[in-house]
Amino acid sequence: MRQNVPPMAHQELTSVLRSASLRVTRPRLAVLGAVHDHPHVDTETVIRLVREDLGAVSHQAVYDVLRVLTEAGLLRRIQPAGATARYESRVGDNHHHVVCRSCGAIADVDCAVGDAPCLTASDSHGFVVDEAEVVYWGTCPDCAAAPTTP
Ligand SMILES: [Zn+2]
Ligand SMILES: [Zn+2]
Repeated sequence: MRQNVPPMAHQELTSVLRSASLRVTRPRLAVLGAVHDHPHVDTETVIRLVREDLGAVSHQAVYDVLRVLTEAGLLRRIQPAGATARYESRVGDNHHHVVCRSCGAIADVDCAVGDAPCLTASDSHGFVVDEAEVVYWGTCPDCAAAPTTP
C-alpha cells in the first residue's frame, strides 16, 4: 500500500526549513526528504534512507532531527497502539489513519466529516475541541488477499 509521492526537490526542502525558521543542514534536508518521499516511515527506515543519502550519520543525530522537525510542525509523529512511531510530512489537516492489524501498513484517511475536528464529541466536558485523532483498524488488501495458513 505504497502511496506514490513525487520526490521533493532540494530547493523545496530548503524553503520548507526556512519557512519554519530552521537552519538548513544536510541531515535536516535528508530527513525531511526521506519522510516526504516515504509517508508513515519508521525511525529505522529514516536512518537507513539518510545513510544512503549522506553516509555515516548517527542514530542520535537522526532522532534529534526528527524531534526538531516535529516540534517545528514540519513533521507529524503518529504512533498507533502497539506499533513503532511513524513520521509523515502531511501536517496540519487533521487527517486520520487506517492501520492493518496483520502487517502494520498505514494509509491516510481524510477527515470523516468536513474539517478538523470533524467529529463531535458526545460530551466535550466544556473543552474547546480542535482535533480528533481517529485510527481505523482492519486488514489491508494485500493481507486480505493472502492465503490463510492451514
Ligand atoms: Zn496488511
Ligand atoms: Zn498520514
